[in-house]
Amino acid sequence: RNNMPEIQFFGVSKFYGNVKAVEDLNFTIQEGEYLSLLGPSGCGKTTTLRMISGLILPTEGKIVWDGKQVQDVQAADRDVGYVFQQFAIFPHLTIWENIAFGPKAKGFPKKEIEQSVEEYIKLVGLSDIADAYPSSLSAANKQRTGIARVLATGAKTLLLDEPMGALDSKIREHFQDELLNIVKSLGLTAIHVTHDQSEALAISDRVGVMKKGKLVQIASPDELLFNPNEVFASYFIGETDVFEGIIRKINTESVMVELLGDEVITIDSKRANRITPTVGQKVIIGIRREFFSLLPYDESQISDTDCFQGTVVADRFQGEKIRTKVKLDYGRELEVKRSNSGKRYKFGDKVLVKIEKNTAFLFMYPSLGLEQEISVT
Ligand code: ATP
Repeated sequence: RNNMPEIQFFGVSKFYGNVKAVEDLNFTIQEGEYLSLLGPSGCGKTTTLRMISGLILPTEGKIVWDGKQVQDVQAADRDVGYVFQQFAIFPHLTIWENIAFGPKAKGFPKKEIEQSVEEYIKLVGLSDIADAYPSSLSAANKQRTGIARVLATGAKTLLLDEPMGALDSKIREHFQDELLNIVKSLGLTAIHVTHDQSEALAISDRVGVMKKGKLVQIASPDELLFNPNEVFASYFIGETDVFEGIIRKINTESVMVELLGDEVITIDSKRANRITPTVGQKVIIGIRREFFSLLPYDESQISDTDCFQGTVVADRFQGEKIRTKVKLDYGRELEVKRSNSGKRYKFGDKVLVKIEKNTAFLFMYPSLGLEQEISVT
């Protein structure tokens, strides 16, 4: 089969009794696309993947492949390969035998099997240790074997469920490059489930952010970071502090929002386009932690807008970054993520936190309240 699948979800839900594992999913996976499904534990990522594989069927809605409605097609008849966090390889078979297993089971001719194993074992860089048994392999090499195994079956769509979950953080980055290279060089479609946002952002053409069974936003990594459409996407992707506020003033250039501590935040009108602002409206402001700047308390530096006063409660050096937690005078805390060459602060230091111009997002106030909106349980 040469044509690659375009997979479409139309109103797909999966219920287990009263549990809505996923609800009303509507999206399309393009052929050759690397899509990640990102979200906290229990949000329905694996259920979505299993429905694509055909291992489970939707309760409602339909999934269409290449224009054909296929929710009734058996898992074995879809050209998908499933890669799990726990390596699906046989311990009693060598790497070579593991990779040959799928094509053998499908009854491919011997010569074809050999060629195929040859090709994929080379692609994942394990030719030199073809006769090794899994017990002697590193976690990364086990996963490489697992990937070669499903590719050898002729899979055109790779379903990856936390494929790097068992790998060390050092190896992960390298593995991300390898995986992307394999998918793109073979022109595969990949759907990758993860709860690790940096992994999703680094590897994907698009990321689908899920929350409690729903798809919140599906967009490119850039779009998600710089133009999130909902509080949850902004909160979950990148590190964002969110504040409740009330719109006090609107003019052509900006919208002024007063927060609970009386601070006023100015939002550039262009960045207020997620809502139709009205004076008196309750809203949410989101500010990414790298867009706060920190300076020692100085009365002459206090400004009427975009400025908080507070006290340092923690200042942690983390190699690449310094993270400083500040308790604002009105009680809540925020976190500033700043350059590792910045000034260091001590517990109790009085500081000013300023918001860089044109960096705040303005969101609708969620119907169930802010706490409920960003809670993941
Ligand atoms: P994780 O990262 O923890 O695997 P997930 O995002 O993949 O989470 P799912 O495994 O898809 O989430 O589960 C979504 C919801 O559906 C959860 O509340 C889960 O408890 C529930 N669920 C999943 N499978 C079943 C099942 N077979 N029976 C009952 N409930 C289920």
